[in-house]
Amino acid sequence: MTFASLGLIEPLLRSLETLGYQTPTPVQAQAIPAVLAGRDLMAAAQTGTGKTAGFALPLLQLLAMEGPKVASNSVRALILVPTRELAEQVHEAVRQYAENLPLSTYAVYGGVSINPQMMKLRKGVDVLVATPGRLLDLYRQKALKFNQLQTLILDEADRMLDLGFSEELGNIYRVLPKQRQTLLFSATFSDAIRLLAGQMLNDPLSIEVSPRNVAANTVKQWVVVVDKKRKPELFIHLLRKGKWKQVLVFAKTRNGVDALVEKLQGLGINADGIHGDKPQATRQRALDRFKASEVQILVATDVAARGLDIEDLPLVVNFDLPIVAEDYIHRIGRTGRAGATGQAISLVCADEVNLLSAIETLTRQTLPRQMEHDFEPEHRVPDTDASGQVVKKPKKPKKPKTSGGGKRNLGKWVESGDASAPEPSIKPVRKVPVFNTGPRKRKP
Ligand code: AMP
Repeated sequence: MTFASLGLIEPLLRSLETLGYQTPTPVQAQAIPAVLAGRDLMAAAQTGTGKTAGFALPLLQLLAMEGPKVASNSVRALILVPTRELAEQVHEAVRQYAENLPLSTYAVYGGVSINPQMMKLRKGVDVLVATPGRLLDLYRQKALKFNQLQTLILDEADRMLDLGFSEELGNIYRVLPKQRQTLLFSATFSDAIRLLAGQMLNDPLSIEVSPRNVAANTVKQWVVVVDKKRKPELFIHLLRKGKWKQVLVFAKTRNGVDALVEKLQGLGINADGIHGDKPQATRQRALDRFKASEVQILVATDVAARGLDIEDLPLVVNFDLPIVAEDYIHRIGRTGRAGATGQAISLVCADEVNLLSAIETLTRQTLPRQMEHDFEPEHRVPDTDASGQVVKKPKKPKKPKTSGGGKRNLGKWVESGDASAPEPSIKPVRKVPVFNTGPRKRKP
């Protein structure tokens, strides 16, 4: 199959040739004809599947074919994304695809001054990429009108809900023209996403390019169990042992990012961090340097690293497991792209057993476990499996105390299927975001 056979016009084909895209990816093969035919879409596609081109190419074609000029402070197509980084990334892709078309594109997001954005919008923009909060600010300040809007795209919709943007999405939805085409892309489909889709989409075509909620199978994944306090040491040990060249590391909190970066830099290791407390310019610089291989290790929170497209990333390390299981899929989606093989290693301590179980349930797999010599955990990580169960080990009878200390207990490694293990008893904790309720948690 070729892009020409999907009905794309010559200026777009030229852009694709420049970019070296030869064959449409599965999501592109399905989405492009459907969007050109004017259908609404509900697409389950994770990052790395080529989904951006899947919606952007037909969108640009429809806008170019229609021709009417955009009025001042107006926008003809709106792409909503959860984070600033993703806004930049999607905008850059759209800009490249639109290279040979007379269409204007722009990206707006929070964390930077609003005035230049207001100035830029005066002329009107054909395709606007935006984070929900800043878009509403611009609308309320009358820098934006939606009466010319004909297409709405929700990219990484699950993440927008996870980040607490449901209220903003509801507010945006209310001020958009009812007559429009809407495309919804999401890596995962929770009940909340289905509810959102039910409200926003009109007779959508469903596209699913990889099995629902299953991580790319080109990524080799495993877990290394360790005590919480020894994670930094273990990470450094693995880094040296594996001679890792370029690693994206996920930590749970901003402080966690800073602490690890500081520790690595203190050892002369070339590391940098990105999280929501850092100014946008600093984040972008760290990311650009990482992409250019000038930084060896980039430590990030989920919010900051959401949807980042870093080509040929060989390795992702989960220094902490994500609180929301779906984030695991997003995290490891940074590697193993477009058929390349990648590795995803999770350092897991006893506290994280329920998070591990939730990930295994969601991805329908039991992650293989390893233990590094000299890093065997004192606090055993109970067994888990894809059924969502955590296997509780019976408590050993207490040994009578002997004087003189005795041997340190390093904890016993229990193979799954251990006959001595009792029936599963603890259910994993899963967070389900709910559309249009609850306060906003964090801004990207
Ligand atoms: P996305 O899933 O949209 O973030 O795209 C992932 C990566 O695949 C990006 O670097 C795109 O430039 C690239 N890509 C998208 N479609 C194609 C294609 N048909 N052929 C080659 N590369 C592509």
